[in-house]
Amino acid sequence: MLDQGIITELRAIAPGCVYPDEPMAKHTSFGLGGPADVYVQPLDEGSLKECAAFLKDAGVAIKILGRGTNLLVRSGGIEGAVLSTEQALSTLRADGGVVTVGSGIPLSGLLSFCAESGLTGLEPLAGIPGSVGGAAVMNAGSYDVWFADHLESVVVFEPGEGSVQVAGSELDASYRRMGIPEGHVVERVVLTLAEESPTTVAARLQEIIERKWRTQPVGMRSAGCVFRNFPDKAAWALIDSVGLVGARIGGAVVSDVHANFILNDRGATPEDVEELITLIRERVSDHTGRDLETEVEIVGRRAH
Ligand SMILES: Cc1cc2nc3c(=O)[nH]c(=O)nc-3n(C[C@H](O)[C@H](O)[C@H](O)COP(=O)(O)OP(=O)(O)OC[C@H]3O[C@@H](n4cnc5c(N)ncnc54)[C@H](O)[C@@H]3O)c2cc1C
Repeated sequence: MLDQGIITELRAIAPGCVYPDEPMAKHTSFGLGGPADVYVQPLDEGSLKECAAFLKDAGVAIKILGRGTNLLVRSGGIEGAVLSTEQALSTLRADGGVVTVGSGIPLSGLLSFCAESGLTGLEPLAGIPGSVGGAAVMNAGSYDVWFADHLESVVVFEPGEGSVQVAGSELDASYRRMGIPEGHVVERVVLTLAEESPTTVAARLQEIIERKWRTQPVGMRSAGCVFRNFPDKAAWALIDSVGLVGARIGGAVVSDVHANFILNDRGATPEDVEELITLIRERVSDHTGRDLETEVEIVGRRAH
């Protein structure tokens, strides 16, 4: 529970954008999660930075939110403030093959822009929901293409501090990790892409999206792949091999289309999903000796 003075101050900085006790279920692709003490969705970059600086000074924990497509928020909700980039960091421009894009823009919006502008390279990322900021932090990837592959630089700031531009080559990017230090907010990224005919880029995007419709439970409530793959073994194959396809705890179920997806089916709770994650990890460890690590980030207070 936050002091009323904090809420009042936030409302003075970002009028109409401050929501105390906001259910995170409304802001995650799982459709799950208890309330954030306060959810703030500033409308412009200046007020987002001012909110972040104020919260830091006041000693309030800050969780940056893109589109909440890689998060499992527990029923007890998030302590402190959730700060959304969705409206505030939404610039997008191209200069030849160099694209500068705000972190709050949806990845799908960036991909459509690239298709219209005839810029190629990111098409394999089609179908990944979430924001550009989330894709940057997570080094989102699919079909052997990673966000880092095209990253020229990233502009970040720490609450209360000025912005810093970091070259992609200075980051220690790896599988699902960009190496952006904890506590840094991604403001925008600069990507280098090759030129190509818009029709060809659009056709590739469509092909990838259709492939994902065939191989993933698209349209169901999930956070994508729950576990990280091993270099020599996909997590879905391990889950399949121990007979857990279709396994269910409460309303949480292992997808029968892609076994690394857990679905919020029939009113799951975050605890149902977390228990199913534990069951999968234990069963896979007992039967194969492999310890699965979660790719989905589990955050928040446990229900009391
Ligand atoms: C159906 C489905 C399919 C998916 N397929 C894939 C896939 O093929 N490949 C893949 O890699 N992922 C996939 N995902 C997972 C997810 O979409 C990606 O990880 C995505 O990049 C997360 O973006 P987001 O904006 O939703 O991040 P969020 O879930 O909002 O946040 C993720 C993390 O990034 C941090 N963050 C977000 N924005 C910023 C910022 N501007 N500055 C600092 N920190 C920030 C958050 O604090 C959090 O720690 C899938 C998810 C779903 C639901």
